[in-house]
Amino acid sequence: MSIELIDAQGRPLPTRVVNLFPPSRSPSEDLMQSHLAFDLSEWFRSKEASCNDSILVTIESWEPKRFRLELEPAEERERHRDEIEAKNRELADLIFDTLENSVYEFIPISSIISIYLRLSDPRGYPGDHWMEVVKRDPRMELSLPGITYAENLSLLESIPLEGKPKIVEKRFSKEEGERVYRFKVVFKHRKEVWRVIEIQGKQTLADFDRILRDVFGHDAFDHLSGFWKLIRRGNTKRYRRIDLGSINPFEGGEAADLRIAGLDLKIGDRMEYVYDFGDWIEHEIVLEEIKPPEPNVEYPRLVERNRPRYKYCEHCRAKGKRMVATYICIECSQEQGREVMVCEECLEEYHGDHYAEKYVY
Ligand SMILES: [Zn+2]
Ligand SMILES: [Zn+2]
Repeated sequence: MSIELIDAQGRPLPTRVVNLFPPSRSPSEDLMQSHLAFDLSEWFRSKEASCNDSILVTIESWEPKRFRLELEPAEERERHRDEIEAKNRELADLIFDTLENSVYEFIPISSIISIYLRLSDPRGYPGDHWMEVVKRDPRMELSLPGITYAENLSLLESIPLEGKPKIVEKRFSKEEGERVYRFKVVFKHRKEVWRVIEIQGKQTLADFDRILRDVFGHDAFDHLSGFWKLIRRGNTKRYRRIDLGSINPFEGGEAADLRIAGLDLKIGDRMEYVYDFGDWIEHEIVLEEIKPPEPNVEYPRLVERNRPRYKYCEHCRAKGKRMVATYICIECSQEQGREVMVCEECLEEYHGDHYAEKYVY
């Protein structure tokens, strides 16, 4: 492959190709690969290049490969700070937008070139290298061979820190801590079952978990539960799930101490709550309102719920009694292809060791 390097005036640059052996960092890296490199020392000397200067590269032609190199002294780059910052911001937003639209929440390095082509002025004053731009952007993380969401990576990193919070709380003021968050919580697979909960910003996900177990009739002392924050990806219909951690009713769990106001939620934002990692009972949560607290009210509290449409125990009905069914026998339901609803007493009497679930209204 031949590569031609030219200077600003179009003259070929004095250079030769050399083999570089990067210093090995550990004994296991003894089998270092060498890298082909251009020796530009003569050009650097003639330009009086010094530390922190940069080289601007323009692709003059791709086939055959011809690159124009210009020395950019550090002071020169400093003078263009504003243009460079604007370019960096535009590039960062384009990369993030591409990430938001990527199915696998990942952009391979090979797509970077096409992102550059979408810049409003690709020939304008060049910004910083894309790797620098990504490294400085709190939304993204360089995770070779590509780019992913910052949270995705911090999740991976958080695995050894079992029991510690998975996310860092956003700072909030005392007044924000007093505010009341109104959440609508819906059973994911039976949308007619819902509750509206009000909870204060300073209260924790453990408090939220406790009232959710209470109002949905889940066991208060058994089973783990967990919260996720859902973030809409750009203007797409896809969401990414950020694991906030689990709640253990006895030992706390890594999400227990996270406070509502620290979750950085806006009205309309969604979360997910799963009770019992065995049965995996999913609840969708939407933040409907944020408002000041009412005097003499204890939070969290249940403020609204669906009107229950009771079903009755079929064994009791056969005996002419109306008894609200509190269980659904899953085994009989599957066998008979219909909902077999029973009261607690009849569950024990007629369904012995069948697999049954509590029925929530
Ligand atoms: Zn049964
Ligand atoms: Zn019964």
